Amino acid sequence: MDNVFYRNIKKEYTEVDRGEGIYLYDTDGNRYIDACSGAAVSNLGHAHPKVLKAMADQAEKVAFSHLSRWTSAPIKELANLVAGLTPGSLNKLYLVSGGSEATEAALKMARQYFLERDGKSGKYKVISRWKSYHGNTIGALSMTGDKRRKKYAPLLLDFPHIAPAYCYRCPFGRNPDTCGVDCAYDLERALKMEGSDTVAAFIAEPVGGAACGAIVPHKDYFRIVRQICDHYDILVIDDEVMTGFGRTGAMFAMEDWDVVPDLICAAKGMSAGYSPLGGVIAKDEIYNAFKQGSGAFVHGHTYGGNPLSAAVAVAVVRTLVEQNLAANSRNVGEYLLTQLRERLLPFWFVGDVRGKGLMQGVELVKSKATKEPFPVYLGIAEKITVTLMKHGIIVYPGSGNADGENGDQFLLAPPLIITKDQADELIEAMVSGFADFEQQIGIYR
Ligand code: PMP
Repeated sequence: MDNVFYRNIKKEYTEVDRGEGIYLYDTDGNRYIDACSGAAVSNLGHAHPKVLKAMADQAEKVAFSHLSRWTSAPIKELANLVAGLTPGSLNKLYLVSGGSEATEAALKMARQYFLERDGKSGKYKVISRWKSYHGNTIGALSMTGDKRRKKYAPLLLDFPHIAPAYCYRCPFGRNPDTCGVDCAYDLERALKMEGSDTVAAFIAEPVGGAACGAIVPHKDYFRIVRQICDHYDILVIDDEVMTGFGRTGAMFAMEDWDVVPDLICAAKGMSAGYSPLGGVIAKDEIYNAFKQGSGAFVHGHTYGGNPLSAAVAVAVVRTLVEQNLAANSRNVGEYLLTQLRERLLPFWFVGDVRGKGLMQGVELVKSKATKEPFPVYLGIAEKITVTLMKHGIIVYPGSGNADGENGDQFLLAPPLIITKDQADELIEAMVSGFADFEQQIGIYR
């Protein structure tokens, strides 16, 4: 008997037995390359001895103490470590238990910041983008811009969304070499329409993840966004829940464009799946506004900043830095992307292969020439995921083709410890999985 309320009740689930390095094993003894690190989470791979030891040591000392009264050595150490890795004055770490909790906290922090700073009670909206994902709780889902909103629309906050920075399907029909970055200026249009005195923040993923399969913006995109936000007194919330801690080849993805946000949301890679953890990293100026104002951020979750998760994260972040895994992500990522482009783009149904570091996306289309997606009912993203699993690879199907506006997509995001030889193993398995899939979908050509 199985009394688990599964997310997709009609889907068949595979029972995991154990993990080791970049591999997962099911209870029948089959081995898989965890080519998406769960959902870009297990950045150090599975069963990392240093993390397991830190976990056991901390559990023996104390696993839980509540943030309403207690601080602990692990949370202080983690905050110091993180402050050393972030740019500018992004020094203050507010701890929660996951990504949605982080974006929810950032949304409230942005609103309260303007209240504390100069009593601006009218600035509360957060502008976000279509084809984005910021989490599943109500505030986070209100900022999200994809199909996950549909069934809950009446519950959501009426926040504005702007065009995505999606060069393969530019919403303005432009070419990235000559475009003028209209998608960034769409923020200014939205600000003027809403009235910037009603807007507290703009939130974006530096590289789009779960909703769009690793779309990388134009190189000038975030610089322009930063200028617009400075001009209108709007905070930039950098949602690095998926990209943070080395995933795209830098410690934080935004670094590559030399842009310093006001708040960073982090989770996944910070504790690499060994224990639930998330956080909002705030600029000193924001922290000081709270300190000089009411002195309290009216927020909190029971497990936020528990010593066990913090000790795990200290071990994870130290390992990331010591082994220079962001650089490995950049180097192996570049190799993997080049190889995948070379080997997958020749398939008639592969429209785009893109990404940054070890965060890559593949978009599947019915016609390469017109970029026409497959019909939604075919569920191509799910089907290819199942096929690839038969070839020993686990990928993350993301949002797939929800509305017929884009092709089916999936994400590749192997653990950052992956070696070049293992990347070769992944590439060969991908190519044989794609050849198999080509046989299955020949009738739709
Ligand atoms: N923001 C981003 C950018 C994410 O990728 C995710 C998770 N995929 C979230 C927020 C939500 O995180 P969680 O699932 O931990 O709530």
